[in-house]
Amino acid sequence: GNIKEDDLQHMEVLGSGNGGQVNRTIHKPTKSMMAVKIIKLDLTPTVQKQILLEMEILHKCNSASIIAFYGAFFTENRISICTEYMDGGSLDRYIPIPENVLSAMSAHIINGLIYMWNLKILHRDIKPSNILVNTAGQVKLCDFGVSTQLVKSIATTFVGTNVYMAPERIQGNQYGIPAEVWSLGVSLFEIVTGKLPFPSFRIDMTPFELMGCIIMESPMTLPPENFSANFVHFVNLCLQKDLRQRLAVAQLLSHPFTKLNENGNAQLVSEWLKQFLSERSSKS
Ligand code: ADP
Ligand code: MG
Repeated sequence: GNIKEDDLQHMEVLGSGNGGQVNRTIHKPTKSMMAVKIIKLDLTPTVQKQILLEMEILHKCNSASIIAFYGAFFTENRISICTEYMDGGSLDRYIPIPENVLSAMSAHIINGLIYMWNLKILHRDIKPSNILVNTAGQVKLCDFGVSTQLVKSIATTFVGTNVYMAPERIQGNQYGIPAEVWSLGVSLFEIVTGKLPFPSFRIDMTPFELMGCIIMESPMTLPPENFSANFVHFVNLCLQKDLRQRLAVAQLLSHPFTKLNENGNAQLVSEWLKQFLSERSSKS
């Protein structure tokens, strides 16, 4: 059935981002655990209805690499989006992640994107904090921009260029799969190095300076002494400023980096994550 506010018991806050907050939540009727994102948005009932309709397609997305969608509803001026809870949280918490661990995760990241692209759905916000892991070693993508109306409503309320945006998107040109491949490249680079691939990037840049840096600079290459040649090559091809040079979908799948890791390795991911979490809890 449909999820209602009264059925939910919010537990701790898992994190917050662009105008929203994510809670670990118990769905009381089923006693199941969920992650519920709540975003404050002042919208007319018509727009609210349109958003909920557009989100319906998420019920049809059924992939081991995509976060399960349980439902969404509005209460006054807030939308609550209920999804599968991932006990490891997002990859940004673990940066830098060793290349072999990221390689073991990469099939899920790539397959998840391709699954949605086949449904004509673009992610629109690929970044390490939208890639989630759990202690079973599963890796899943969240926060797909399925509702154009929701994406628009959030964008008009909370502005921003982010460091993962492709140069053509910043310049207001076409936004499509190539722009997503770029964001994937920036994310992979950051996940293994803890740095962004722009030589003069600083965290205190203004949005205007950031745009300049993405549009003007040639992205860096991963240091070949620290990473495998296949991985360095793959990330380089994601970070081509010229769309025609960037990896296309067929090449994403046929690249040796993808081929070598095509089954993923849930056991390796699971062991790495459990080790990381136990070290963290013994320190605190
Ligand atoms: P952002 O993605 O920009 O960090 P969000 O509001 O989308 O902002 O998410 C905030 C944080 O909540 C994320 O960084 C992530 O660590 C956590 N989170 C989001 N969804 C889930 C989920 N399904 N399971 C566990 N943690 C989640
Ligand atoms: Mg997110």
